[in-house]
Amino acid sequence: MILRARQGADTTGVAMKTIIEPFKIKSVEPIHFTTREEREAVLRKGFYNLFMIRAEDVLIDLLTDSGTAAMSAAQWAGMMQGDESYAGARSFYRFEAKVRELTGMKNIIPTHQGRAAEKILFSLVGGPGKIVPNNSHFDTTRANVEFTGAEAVDLPTAEGRDPDLIADFKGNMDTAGLEEFFRRAPKGSVPLCMMTVTNNSGGGQPVSMQNIRETRDICRREGVPLFLDACRFAENAYFIKKREREYATTPVKAIVQEMFSLVDGVTMSAKKDAIVNMGGFLALQDDELAARARNLLIMTEGFPTYGGLAGRDLEAIAQGLDEVLDEHYLQYRLRSVEYLGERLVKEGVPIMQPPGGHAIYLNAKKFLPHIPPHEFPGQSLSVALFLEGGIRSAEIGSVMFGKTDASGTFVPARMELVRLAMPRRVYTQSHIDYVFEVVADCFAHRETLKGYRVVEEPPMLRHFTAKFAPIT
Ligand SMILES: *Cc1c(COP(=O)(O)O)cnc(C)c1O
Repeated sequence: MILRARQGADTTGVAMKTIIEPFKIKSVEPIHFTTREEREAVLRKGFYNLFMIRAEDVLIDLLTDSGTAAMSAAQWAGMMQGDESYAGARSFYRFEAKVRELTGMKNIIPTHQGRAAEKILFSLVGGPGKIVPNNSHFDTTRANVEFTGAEAVDLPTAEGRDPDLIADFKGNMDTAGLEEFFRRAPKGSVPLCMMTVTNNSGGGQPVSMQNIRETRDICRREGVPLFLDACRFAENAYFIKKREREYATTPVKAIVQEMFSLVDGVTMSAKKDAIVNMGGFLALQDDELAARARNLLIMTEGFPTYGGLAGRDLEAIAQGLDEVLDEHYLQYRLRSVEYLGERLVKEGVPIMQPPGGHAIYLNAKKFLPHIPPHEFPGQSLSVALFLEGGIRSAEIGSVMFGKTDASGTFVPARMELVRLAMPRRVYTQSHIDYVFEVVADCFAHRETLKGYRVVEEPPMLRHFTAKFAPIT
């Protein structure tokens, strides 16, 4: 009875008390148990950086929800049906029809993953003097905007910036802030406005339909196209159904179609809500922009009917885009994350509130108040979760975003978080119970955890390869 729904009413049409995994398992992959001594050795060898250890040594891998999903039997069957013709493959047309059905976009351009779509888009519309607003740029989106010499501006709401506040749509765009932004931006400097659903950098928090509509109205007045960074569009749509009253009885698919009907273009990482291990797309209403995008695509990704993907990948994406709209699936997915959050909160463990769609974020600053930011409380906690229970998480704090300024002073990140991201359809409730127990164990002996220092780091994106040592 543990995954019981928060609100009694069940909208999926099945009278059910426990929300169960809406699948049975046909193919299994063993996970690897290790002893504490073995994990100690793994950590030492990997310099206490969880990006530098072997996945084989991990018991439960919550590093990311990107590209880590389990495909369905129908997706694997689709892989065998893949048409690998260079041009005009049947698999492309199936993929194109599905993406068009959901997004309503005229031009559908496959790419090998989300950032490739971003790279093409911003190569065309970015450049020095340009400014791109977004509720919150994901890191690859920001990097692709800035790489062209343009500026990336985040406009989250005040609610969205408060990690303890419980509110329905903390991923929203600050629309008053956006209007102010347009008043100040030089004429012609804003090539497009983006909205990220769900708001990944903001904790996987959803964006309301009303907020997308208001943002669309502002953009229309300004004559600026609106784009969705749509990686978790289905999770966002299910949040809309649950939390935005007028959509309570609308099918998720119709909500998705309405979301996309409000925008002029889409970038998508299929590694998220298309439930595949690799893939993405760029979708555009503007024919002229699409023609230029296809020219770039041919240089970097491939011919426009495969764009860096095999025909079988396009089949799996088309199938995944159908499956992700299954409301039993979405209910189970969001409830799994919420359930872990609820148990942690009951135990007194500080988390970012409320639980988002794809991850729980532990608040390491509150979890380990005795470890100052320059000794990386998030790193300490993520190492402890691995040592204690073989769980891999991601530090999202001063290792990732902290800086040393020109005067040599350490500038910490705004928040010290540890993300437990949930791969799609991979783990069951007992895995989640186990994760809870390991976090609770670490919380019980939190005073004994120590900080870390950096012993070696690269000039950029240090979280991937930096080497650490415990402070003793
Ligand atoms: C993952 C992600 C991307 C980039 O997609 P990749 O497939 O990893 O290149 C862009 N935006 C958001 C919000 C994402 O979560």
